[in-house]
Amino acid sequence: MSMKDKANVQCRKCGKTIEVNKWSAVNGDKNPDLKEKILSGELFSVRCRSCGAVSQLGYPMVYSDPTKNIMIWLVFDDEEVGHIKSYYKTCKTQPDENGKTADKECRLRIVRNSFQLREKIMIADCGLDDKIVELAKLAYAKSAQQKNSSDKIAVSFFSSEGGNNRIEMYCASGKAFVSVLSADIIKKLEDKYGGKASYAEDRVYIIDDVWALELVRQYEAEH
Ligand SMILES: [Zn+2]
Repeated sequence: MSMKDKANVQCRKCGKTIEVNKWSAVNGDKNPDLKEKILSGELFSVRCRSCGAVSQLGYPMVYSDPTKNIMIWLVFDDEEVGHIKSYYKTCKTQPDENGKTADKECRLRIVRNSFQLREKIMIADCGLDDKIVELAKLAYAKSAQQKNSSDKIAVSFFSSEGGNNRIEMYCASGKAFVSVLSADIIKKLEDKYGGKASYAEDRVYIIDDVWALELVRQYEAEH
């Protein structure tokens, strides 16, 4: 089930009040139109009718797709992250909206911005493991960094937009690098880190670059 609330925001340019829909829950399987709007960014932006300026909307949401076995919490508040983690710690199985107990291996994730939410949805749609993808992002960024030492890569994202699985890397200067995410690299990372990175092994909810760096650090220390 998808749920929304009406809210008023102010146009960032002219200050006029704009009524917007804030979606607190989106089921990507039942509402593919809403899922598309998350992927395009449309659900998190609004155009002012008076001046035409586009304002970004940041609001919390829980995205679920039972067919992909994922539930992703978009959370902005640090305290709320703590609440969600402790809730799931005490509650191992979740009854779904039909009252059935959801699969214990449901991939629960917490993301901190709408770009990360978009990325997680694309990763799940491609049938990839987000832990392996984070490790791949790290490996690709390292390799791109070695070839282009002058500009530091600030952020990287997985994308499958347009059909190619790829890692997009951006420097603070605006310079960008793109690498096709090869199945061979994924296989190599699965072989190397598979046991540790397996999502079924533990319940870690924030899988990002910090998580990947820590996993690699631990692995290097043990090998
Ligand atoms: Zn305006």
